[in-house]
Amino acid sequence: MKRTPQLNNIVKRVDELTKCVNCGLCQAVCPTYILEGYEGRTARGKIELLKRLLNSDLEPTTEIADIFDDCLTCYACQSVCPAGVKTERLWISAREDLAKLSSTHKKKLRAIKWTFRKPVLFNFGLKTYGLLFGFNREKPTKVEVGHYGLPVFRGAPYLKRLPEVVEPVSSKVVNTVGLLIGCSGNISAPWAVDAAIKLLTSAGCEVIIPKTQGCCGAPAINNGCWSEAKLMAIKTMELFDNLKVDFITSPDATCTSALQNDYGEIFQDEEEVFKRWKSFRSKVKQLSVVLEGFIRDKRLIFKNDNHKITLHNSCHNTHIGERSRWREILSMISKIKILEMPNADLCCGFGGSYSIFHPRSSSSIARKKIDAALETGADILLVGSPGCQVRLISVANNEIQVKLALELLADLVK
Ligand code: SF4
Ligand code: SF4
Repeated sequence: MKRTPQLNNIVKRVDELTKCVNCGLCQAVCPTYILEGYEGRTARGKIELLKRLLNSDLEPTTEIADIFDDCLTCYACQSVCPAGVKTERLWISAREDLAKLSSTHKKKLRAIKWTFRKPVLFNFGLKTYGLLFGFNREKPTKVEVGHYGLPVFRGAPYLKRLPEVVEPVSSKVVNTVGLLIGCSGNISAPWAVDAAIKLLTSAGCEVIIPKTQGCCGAPAINNGCWSEAKLMAIKTMELFDNLKVDFITSPDATCTSALQNDYGEIFQDEEEVFKRWKSFRSKVKQLSVVLEGFIRDKRLIFKNDNHKITLHNSCHNTHIGERSRWREILSMISKIKILEMPNADLCCGFGGSYSIFHPRSSSSIARKKIDAALETGADILLVGSPGCQVRLISVANNEIQVKLALELLADLVK
């Protein structure tokens, strides 16, 4: 393959491209293909595009860059692929290489720079926006994905309202935990943070919530803004490395997954930082994995209330990274009845900035998820990630309660 200068990251991924055997199995699991029926949306279609770009059969254009933007980065294609194509690596690399051509790149970059470089202004803007257009979870029909596609709760930013240290319920400290609340916890779903703190402190953990924490960089990584992402990643690693904690976790699986996986991707060519990340990663744990361990060790006991639930498997920690343990945890509580919905692994339509830049497709995909949940007869649709929750609440029209698995556990903990 000829080398195209703009495609430096993709060039390093040629092996992934050549693995594809054109079987088409990725079609059936791709939410954007299911919605539109357009082959260019599938992993196979995108791989073909990348091959043609590398062979200089095609010139990189805005239209091509936008095809890579119009992807939920759910990585269901990666899970199903019999040839083991790591689409996660391909799409992140393609977005980085084609970022400047993308029609939404400037807007995304501006938003990301603002978040990182001007925290005081950002927090002021957030507060004002929250007061003017913020949603009230008690009236979910008003949620939508926010006035300008940005779901902000009325009291944002939440970090300002949190203490820096929360002592364990029993006063005996068994573990010390560093908590990264994530942008979802800070901006959209503060209840996720409350639930995480309640469960961790009930299990004997002292929870440290550093006040200077910010975005982990996941949106910047996913949108190809790697220079900004690297700054955010280094800041996050430095901040949490300096804490004397047994482990680091987050109520948002997307953040945990960025710390555990994506940082390795963006620092692959920087030996020193990569080494540092590997040692940092050894302390990062997915919250559901931590909680499962606590439950098995009888550090968490739950009330045995009757609930009929169905569970949507959030993409982060289903298709990439460590698989979440919510289903296993819920199965341990005997009066919780799990009614399985079809396609529980299919993306809910959130996809981070996808819901902002592709609101119609995002809503249509989300509504299908609600319909599938309703068919099971469950009273509650449980999800693993705050992003999925806000997206699904916005289209649920009060027909079913949409809760985090974390929240139900926090309600039930003794
Ligand atoms: S499932 Fe994998 S091998 Fe099959 S067409 Fe899709 S990317 Fe290629
Ligand atoms: S990541 Fe998801 S939306 Fe994107 S191509 Fe793969 S299955 Fe389709």
